[in-house]
Amino acid sequence: MNIGISRRSALIGSAALSLASAAKAVPGREDMRLRILPTRVYRSVFNARENMDGWVLFLILEAVEQQPFRPISLHISYRADGMVVREDRISGAALNGVARQDISPSRLTGQTPNPPVYWPQAFRVHCYVPHEPVISDLLFELRLADAKGRVHRITLQTPIIDYEQRTALIFPFRGPGIISQAGVLGGGHRNRSGAFALDAIGLAANHAPMLKAGSDRPQDYAGWGRSIIAPADGIIVNARNDRPDQPKDGESNPAYYAPEYPNGGDVGNNVVIDHGNNEFSLIAHMRMGSVRVRPGERVTQGQQLGELGNSGDTSGPHVHYQLQNGPRWEYADGLPMRFTNVSGLARGSYFDAS
Ligand SMILES: [Zn+2]
Repeated sequence: MNIGISRRSALIGSAALSLASAAKAVPGREDMRLRILPTRVYRSVFNARENMDGWVLFLILEAVEQQPFRPISLHISYRADGMVVREDRISGAALNGVARQDISPSRLTGQTPNPPVYWPQAFRVHCYVPHEPVISDLLFELRLADAKGRVHRITLQTPIIDYEQRTALIFPFRGPGIISQAGVLGGGHRNRSGAFALDAIGLAANHAPMLKAGSDRPQDYAGWGRSIIAPADGIIVNARNDRPDQPKDGESNPAYYAPEYPNGGDVGNNVVIDHGNNEFSLIAHMRMGSVRVRPGERVTQGQQLGELGNSGDTSGPHVHYQLQNGPRWEYADGLPMRFTNVSGLARGSYFDAS
């Protein structure tokens, strides 16, 4: 009897992790369930293919006991107007190919649930569908076998949310540039908060990326040292200024990563701005010593934060920008965003931010 109660409270406890997603678990087993990360699924255009929408997410089996499972199949149903209009089925080697055992609540939420819950199995799920009909929900059905060979079927339904951006943003630098890497749908930024992130290289007036051909010095990039500005008003909640710039173009040398990011992902000298409406801007990889704002300081749109640099996990001077729903990029969801002074940004886009 006690076991049943503790299992129930374990799952209630985990829901309090601020992980609670818009997704609804279909009633059934109470000692395991599916959850997704990022916690909400936003509609976004997949620019790399004609007239397609897409979503990339972690589908996670959460259990109150640590035990091994053998995945059997994953069924994804796409619903529009209450009707299933498309289905994908993944099994066997294809399912094993997207299985992940290396993620955990503490790593992706920053919290250790008490009582503990376990993520014995997770899957990196890619969904691509045509724009029409407009998909309203995804329904996942996972079948797996436990160590005793018993087969479990667990389902999760999650809505596709049309995100309404609250903050009017301008691009974090002025002048010409090119998007070198965009969000996860284009193969970039695979971490939880980077789903809609942009990397931008500053260009010269003639669209050249380098001022000196053939140089491998970051300082010879046209964008090096360009003013990085606040995309919108807000309060600084994080500012880092002490990380050395990577010295050589084309190399992201781990020797220059901050100790807390030995495996990469280091955002280097960065600023996080709280826009006061559950939207936060992360601006990363600035030049060492250039960051001129401090936590607690109020900034206004267009105010200089620092200079474009090459600090952290980067192989060439650029600015990384993302909008996220919390102050810590490691544990926040990325948010779809657009700017008021440039539009249609995707990987490879040239732009001029006036
Ligand atoms: Zn980036």
